[in-house]
Amino acid sequence: MFGKSEPIEIKSIDELTLMREAGLVVARTLERLRQEVTAGMTTADLDAIARESIASHGATSSFLGYHGFPAVICTSVNREVVHGIPGETAIKAGDIVSIDCGAIVEGWHGDAAISIVLPGADSAVVALSEATKAAMWAGLAKAREGNRLSDIGHAVETCIKDAGNYGIVEDYVGHGIGTSMHMHPPVPNYGKPGEGPRLEVGMALAIEPMATLGSANVGVLEDDWTVVTIDGKPAAHWEHTVAITDEGPWVLTSLEGTRL
Ligand code: MG
Ligand code: MG
Repeated sequence: MFGKSEPIEIKSIDELTLMREAGLVVARTLERLRQEVTAGMTTADLDAIARESIASHGATSSFLGYHGFPAVICTSVNREVVHGIPGETAIKAGDIVSIDCGAIVEGWHGDAAISIVLPGADSAVVALSEATKAAMWAGLAKAREGNRLSDIGHAVETCIKDAGNYGIVEDYVGHGIGTSMHMHPPVPNYGKPGEGPRLEVGMALAIEPMATLGSANVGVLEDDWTVVTIDGKPAAHWEHTVAITDEGPWVLTSLEGTRL
């Protein structure tokens, strides 16, 4: 994973400020979806809201047209882990709906995801989502100058394992981000600490743990996009884009622009 590597893009503070603008569009879009989602809506309804939100902020979508992807968000419900395509299936009470969104401002990308647990869900699904979110924050806190890249994945893995007996998906990982959505380096959600490139001021990473209530084995549906758990158990996905600054981690896709 951390072999001879391409360089990692370094951003100036002005460039990170543009990434923060993109991140804020993503944050506001996800917050609106979180507030509006109810049982009976379709995932296509959510995509329509997200399209309107991204456009209303004068931004463009990172996802629409990406390798032919037909929507501005990914919507992954229950056993779907990531990359679900919005469609006409209605969301039901008790579902877990993971929504991933990316936006571009002046060529700079922001990328984040939330999992929403609808009322009526099993408490184990709520706990899964909370554990995955906490693990994301544990990883974000390691996005500091001088740390090694694998310190992030180690923190994510440790946090999830401490929370319970969850599957940690290894087939999909976080990534560098900036002038493209997916850039070097890959950011796995597992591993030993103290390996890989040293983190430097001006790097930006998308940290995105995916965890399941069962096995971590996943496959891709016939639509060639939707990643699902093989055992059919529910999955959660949380993601933020974070910049490494000389004042610590700057979470570009949180509403508040959180500094850790
Ligand atoms: Mg994403
Ligand atoms: Mg991502």
